[in-house]
Amino acid sequence: TAVAAARAGGSARATRWTDALGAAAARRDRLREDLPGAAGRGELWLAFQPIVSMDEQRVVGVEALLRWRHPELGDVPPREFVPIAERAGVIGELQRWVLREATATAAGLPDSDGVPLRLGVNTSASHVAARTLVDDVAAALASSGLAPERLVLEVTEATLLDDGDFVAIDVQALRLMGVHVALDDFGTGTSSLLHLTRLPIDVLKLDRAFVSRVDRDAQSRALCEAVVTVGRALGVDVVAEGVETPAQLGVLRGLGLGFAQGFLLARPLPPADLLRVLREGAGSLWPGLVGLSHDV
Ligand code: C2E
Ligand code: MG
Ligand code: MG
Ligand code: MG
Repeated sequence: TAVAAARAGGSARATRWTDALGAAAARRDRLREDLPGAAGRGELWLAFQPIVSMDEQRVVGVEALLRWRHPELGDVPPREFVPIAERAGVIGELQRWVLREATATAAGLPDSDGVPLRLGVNTSASHVAARTLVDDVAAALASSGLAPERLVLEVTEATLLDDGDFVAIDVQALRLMGVHVALDDFGTGTSSLLHLTRLPIDVLKLDRAFVSRVDRDAQSRALCEAVVTVGRALGVDVVAEGVETPAQLGVLRGLGLGFAQGFLLARPLPPADLLRVLREGAGSLWPGLVGLSHDV
């Protein structure tokens, strides 16, 4: 009967659901088991995405982005395995590997038009909460010889607000060492412009959610404009994340945004490809960058 068929169909769907949930859980378990040894087995590597100054039209820095090539599962995205590492308590180990590898690579990069490149490294709330960040950063700087001023630690607002004054103390200790701090993904979460004035930051990274709509929607544009104004008032650099189209770049430039990062300019690159970009100059990233006019 129709009812029986529907019931059978329903239970088949339910079975597919259960299977899918089971498969997802099995994958998480597998990743959690394999993560601890991944660095030692050579499965982790860092991609570097250029950050460009719109005024100077040159590459001023790179952001290190963690990659895991699992021998059987293939490339696993950081948004999938970083939370697993946090819950499994192995994020400290992972972040120490990232800090050492990223600073060592950056120390070996050529200057960009005579200026040393800055290196952005992402942090994790649970690593910061574990209170080893200051020591781990100091160790990476010492072993690589990278000047502290070249390191930009990217933190999210949730990390900075994560209860307890110790976060502020550790971040302040890092800034006293000369390390810079960037607020990542700004505009997502609970951030307010007023609150910004109290955060110990040097750079503001405007989230892709705003950047992606800036050429189409007046509200996103107004928000970007406000952030530019606040950035000026606070004396912090503002970076637009996730710039994908010439139209977006043009509008952002017109609003006075100082720096851009995104697939339009370059994808996250293996070090060899990054070196080629640095040799060829920012004009090779996107020809439209050079001669980009302030008025659009
Ligand atoms: P994030 O720090 O906000 O990094 C920017 C992400 O946006 C990167 O994704 C980058 O590939 C992507 N992206 C850049 N330009 C564009 C664009 O034009 N369009 C689009 N659609 N995406 C763009 P990725 O590499 O997958 O990293 C995702 C997130 O994983 C990062 O977001 C960061 O929160 C986290 N992550 C990456 N590496 C590390 C790490 O070493 N440690 C920690 N704790 N987290 C990391
Ligand atoms: Mg980041
Ligand atoms: Mg970001
Ligand atoms: Mg983001």
